[in-house]
Amino acid sequence: MVRPKKTDIDIPPAMRHLPLTSNGYKKPWFVKANDIRVPDEKKYVQSMTKGKCWICGGTNKKEQVFVTDPKSASLGVSLEPPCHPACAEYSAMVCPFLILPKAKRREAGLPENYHENNQAPEASTQNPGEIILTYVKKHRFEAVTKTKMARWEPSQILRQSLWKEGQIIADNPNGPLPANLLADAVRRTTS
Ligand SMILES: [Zn+2]
Repeated sequence: MVRPKKTDIDIPPAMRHLPLTSNGYKKPWFVKANDIRVPDEKKYVQSMTKGKCWICGGTNKKEQVFVTDPKSASLGVSLEPPCHPACAEYSAMVCPFLILPKAKRREAGLPENYHENNQAPEASTQNPGEIILTYVKKHRFEAVTKTKMARWEPSQILRQSLWKEGQIIADNPNGPLPANLLADAVRRTTS
């Protein structure tokens, strides 16, 4: 399968106001200044607690989508805030940090207070090349000591899909992915 070029994919209406990066990608709302690896702390909290889409900054109080590695999805946690479905799906198709397995993003892309010791202990830190989109009605935001994350229960999952290098390869439009499928993805992406 040939990965679609980013120009072949329609930009979601909610993202059209975002400026372009020097590489021609839409610059996500969360970016502080011009370094795409450094999220804005205030926006992080707004997105986690006030229903702001992490990618476009628009209001998103209906269906919230977390983009995570398989391990985090299996644990029902995300270190990053949620997005609109359309914004998350667009990013899953075009964002080089998500579709290139070797792209090192996680550790470099987290807010300053996340570094090393502040990493959620049970969450994976490597970019696995496979990502899970988890659609939930709501989540809770946990800030225990220095570790911040969103957490959800399996019963809150509206839809879940597995993506590999920009392509959707498994999807349950009515709830969580089958446990064995998710467990296989975790095995493939953790050492
Ligand atoms: Zn959005």
